[in-house]
Amino acid sequence: MISDLTEKPLASWRGKERFGSNLLDCLTIIFKTGGCSYAKCRMCSYRHERYAGESCASLLRHLESQLVWVKEQYDLRGYRMVKIFTSGSLFDPVEVPPAFLSKIASAFRGKLLIAETRPDFVCEEVLLPFISMIDDGSWETPVYCAIGLETSSDPIREKCINKGFTFRDFTTAVRQARGAGAGIKAYLLLKPLFLTEAEAVSDMLASITDTLPCTDWISMNPCTVQRNTELEYYWKRGAYRPPYLWSVLSVLSQSPVPVTCDPLGGGQRRGPHNCGGCDDAIVKGIRDYSLSGDRELVRALLDIDCDCRQEWEFVLDSEKPWCMPLTR
Ligand code: SF4
Ligand SMILES: [Zn+2]
Repeated sequence: MISDLTEKPLASWRGKERFGSNLLDCLTIIFKTGGCSYAKCRMCSYRHERYAGESCASLLRHLESQLVWVKEQYDLRGYRMVKIFTSGSLFDPVEVPPAFLSKIASAFRGKLLIAETRPDFVCEEVLLPFISMIDDGSWETPVYCAIGLETSSDPIREKCINKGFTFRDFTTAVRQARGAGAGIKAYLLLKPLFLTEAEAVSDMLASITDTLPCTDWISMNPCTVQRNTELEYYWKRGAYRPPYLWSVLSVLSQSPVPVTCDPLGGGQRRGPHNCGGCDDAIVKGIRDYSLSGDRELVRALLDIDCDCRQEWEFVLDSEKPWCMPLTR
């Protein structure tokens, strides 16, 4: 029964997540908030999902009513892990009134919490009280800050994504999080705008290697074309193609450590895709691999016999970059 005081979050779903060698039941929630304060990334449409121009008190009411909805819909005793996304950063006080953090902490006390945030908002003063409220001793590290680092390359993050922070900003956030007793999950983006397929694969492999020493967890996001984004503008004009699923497999097979990957939109024109014939089996295989970490599965998927593999190899060899001027 849903009461009048409830509001549905943007999305929520149950699933499984690998944590170390365990598979945990996980509840994922995307709260509608005041919206990302930065809101300039070229591929992002989440920034459009917001309560615009609301007072802090009204924003808090919206968020609390979404939390009530979640508590009515799901039996939280069934989940050990909770992933919270917002339309930007959970720890941004403009986007999410700080009073809401204590509501979150008491609702999910004892859970393993993964909270998405930009590095700018990761600071010990905010994390310490939050962690002490959520921690009931069940987890060595009860909170992980999930940061969309996207790539370890500052030029690619600046020119191709317009992310607005540097790798040094990321490592500063890592120090702050660790100082408060939080862990780090890094999201990396496979094939930002303006990169060739080969550049994208090599950027991802370099990024995994560079990021490994600072993170507990790496998740690779193959780029999808979201609506009302700059990326979509270029895609509609034939100037961008999402990554091949072969590229995803190639990275997973060469990565120095197992990374998780959920190929959202896999097999569709706007998402990572191959020819249409082999996509479903590969997307399913990548999801299975994310849960098992079994490299043999990736090698078996790479051996699937499909004509589009030759096309992908040709693209890797022959695609040429379109350079941007370095100066104005
Ligand atoms: S990717 Fe994250 S930081 Fe960038 S605009 Fe979207 S929500 Fe904001
Ligand atoms: Zn194919």
